[in-house]
Amino acid sequence: MKVLITGGAGFIGSHLVKHYLKKNHSVVVIDNYITGDKNNLKEVGTDKNLQVIEADLINYDLSSLPQFDLVYDLASPASPAVFEKLSFEIFKVNSIGLINVLDFFVRSKSKTFVFASTSEVYGDPQISPQPETYFGNVHTSGPRSSYDEGKRFAEAVISAYIRKSGIDARIARIFNTYGPFMNKSDGRFISNFINQAINNEPLTIYGDGKQTRSSCYVADMAGGLISMGETKNLKGQIINLGNPDEKKIIEVAQLIKKLTGSKSEIVYKPIGEDDPKRRCPDISKAKRILQWQPKIKLEDGLKLTIDYFKNL
Ligand code: UDP
Repeated sequence: MKVLITGGAGFIGSHLVKHYLKKNHSVVVIDNYITGDKNNLKEVGTDKNLQVIEADLINYDLSSLPQFDLVYDLASPASPAVFEKLSFEIFKVNSIGLINVLDFFVRSKSKTFVFASTSEVYGDPQISPQPETYFGNVHTSGPRSSYDEGKRFAEAVISAYIRKSGIDARIARIFNTYGPFMNKSDGRFISNFINQAINNEPLTIYGDGKQTRSSCYVADMAGGLISMGETKNLKGQIINLGNPDEKKIIEVAQLIKKLTGSKSEIVYKPIGEDDPKRRCPDISKAKRILQWQPKIKLEDGLKLTIDYFKNL
């Protein structure tokens, strides 16, 4: 197969790239390294089946590229720490950049398109767990709105292309994901806590730590995305991917302290505006349609992630 992965030098994208190269498929990556990292693809850098294009999808002309069997579009900054700083980049890649890729997809008669959407489309949810049918509770002009509304717009655009051009596009709503090749310093809670713990620095809890997240190990997440790309007859489907094992942030901090044997104290800092109080995927649709569910338990995934950060 020929596979295009935008954002392929990012955290989740780089796992997909390595998977498809291992299976001897030919992979093209487009990444502008705004939040992705060249080092994430270092181990496959010389693979003859890999072509990496450093470009911004907002203005890159894709017309010289061939038809693809599978396109994964993961190009977007995704950490809350940059939702304000990179707000225009986020808006543009999820609108102009996405439309650029979709127009190429239609023109090149490529076959299957998988878009990385997000649990952020549910905002600060009023129901939990969140099924795909929930329309969300998003603050349209708040500090997280670049990402939330960027991805909601993207879902709307893709849905219009499906209706008008008949393309086979699928939308994955990705919930919190962690594991090797996470960016050490992009501000997410698991990477922050692990790096704070192994450096004997205080673990920073925002708010009272009672807000929840449900964290999926990256190998499980990659498996879910691959199923979304390769399962037949999924045109137009929107599917939650995540691990429904819901935990309070403080519980995860304490578990990381225990697993690292760290003596770091836990300190409390102000919480950001619109920080969702609960987040937990309803994955019954993924189980039913993809026969997929995460296998790796939080404690096991954290151990692997701790080892990764210790060896960096
Ligand atoms: N958080 C925290 N300390 C940190 C980083 C994050 O307490 O050092 C909290 C954050 O306020 C949020 C949760 O952890 O409630 C998850 O934050 P993250 O940035 O990882 O992603 P989000 O799920 O908000 O997209």
